[in-house]
Amino acid sequence: MIVGLDEGSAAPASGGSRPDDDRLREECGVFGVFGNEEAAALTALGLHALQHRGQEAAGIVTFDGAHFHSERRLGLVGDNFNKADVIRRLNGHISLGHVRYSTTGDTILRNVQPLFADLDTGGFAVAHNGNLTNALTLRRELISSGAICQSTSDTEVILHLIARSKRRRIIERFIEALRQIQGAYALVCLTNDMLIGARDPIGIRPLVLGKLGSGYVLASETCALDIVGAEFVREIENGEIVTITAEGVQSHRPFPMRPARPCIFEFIYFARPDSIVGGRNVYEIRKQMGVQLAREAPTAADVVIPIPDSGVPAAIGYAQESRVPFELGIIRNHYVGRTFIEPEQRIRQLGVKLKHSANTGVVRGSRIVLIDDSVVRGTTSKKIVQMMFEAGAREVHMRISSPPITHPDFYGIDTPRSSELLAANKTVEEMRQFMGATSLAFLSVDGIYRALGLEKRDARAPQFTDHCFTGDYPTDLVDQNGSAHNGQLSFLSEVR
Ligand code: AMP
Repeated sequence: MIVGLDEGSAAPASGGSRPDDDRLREECGVFGVFGNEEAAALTALGLHALQHRGQEAAGIVTFDGAHFHSERRLGLVGDNFNKADVIRRLNGHISLGHVRYSTTGDTILRNVQPLFADLDTGGFAVAHNGNLTNALTLRRELISSGAICQSTSDTEVILHLIARSKRRRIIERFIEALRQIQGAYALVCLTNDMLIGARDPIGIRPLVLGKLGSGYVLASETCALDIVGAEFVREIENGEIVTITAEGVQSHRPFPMRPARPCIFEFIYFARPDSIVGGRNVYEIRKQMGVQLAREAPTAADVVIPIPDSGVPAAIGYAQESRVPFELGIIRNHYVGRTFIEPEQRIRQLGVKLKHSANTGVVRGSRIVLIDDSVVRGTTSKKIVQMMFEAGAREVHMRISSPPITHPDFYGIDTPRSSELLAANKTVEEMRQFMGATSLAFLSVDGIYRALGLEKRDARAPQFTDHCFTGDYPTDLVDQNGSAHNGQLSFLSEVR
């Protein structure tokens, strides 16, 4: 089936170019191996550990010394890369993988990464976690100068820029391309003799380097190093490019040095709790967020209940600090994907029901502190507060271990346009009424920074990318501020 779609159809009814209707947003995980005969099998394992970063599609590209091989599939890693014949086809000692999740509905095979192109320097594959903030603008320029775009992904722009560079060496072309892009990127690329890793100038999205035997691994998170038994070497630094060849690892710093400003949301929700991000154990930080929340918003209660799974570490911290017992008052069905995977609000609401059930024995007759890590549209909290009362709770005190999300994200974590963000449109009291909770409180912005081991947010030089709570975007939003959004982006829809 081939259907013509256009980007404009998803715009709000009011039309016009709102500052937040970018349709190229996506969450992702990347993983690369250099110098291992089992490169593809290791990459499948690494992607499996990164599955929480994207469940819509996965892909692996390898190079075997003579040829490149590629498999890109819609669906989960475990469902697509579990067969020996698939892995055997992906021959080679260098491998690159990607898991992807977009909320735009453009789940088409041509968008599934890694993207591959034959350049005059040889084959080149790219896998991207993040979101470019000038991709639509660049894409428009490229198309008007004759480029043919195969996907609707911002990552393809990078391939075009590399292809058009007049430089001789691939690394020079790559650097020239990076000079033209803006926004958030953790990139891993593969050529016939090299694995390349790169982080944007302020290091919004994470990327780590590991050692595996005589070879190397690049991954979005340390949990993917752990699964393949790789030893953590270090993080790729903000603005750094590393090239991994038979000679070893070489570091390049082509951009002016800037202070790092990693994304705070990795700590709140996005990264897996067992990962170490920026030297911090994500689980410990989430527990600390619960501790801070208990100090900022205590309440008389009988039991602390997390919304599983993402609310669990903060609920443990809240319970320890408040000395209110921690109980599993909600049981999660693990065979349902993340609530967000369903594109329509109606289905999303159903998804919450499919995913969580009340553990009535714990809930009945209790005054509950209910903990979740964040409120986006408010769907989860509203449903679960209602579920707690239906199960016989006397009081439900909703506590959120991050501040209200008042601004959309443009760097690849999928927080939607302002009109859909609950906290962008309601006061805390209005949100409480919407959820039907007895009380509602959020962790403060400084509370998050305290949980991260800092005294407070430095308003002049914020230590993290935290625009979701503060509106302080760390880069230019070229596409949002310019005219790119008035143009329509047409693409074909194909499903396999
Ligand atoms: P909502 O129901 O729309 O308020 O979404 C809040 C729930 O989604 C919380 O339980 C979060 O753990 C989870 N969540 C927060 N941010 C994201 C994200 N970027 N992608 C998917 N789920 C998220």
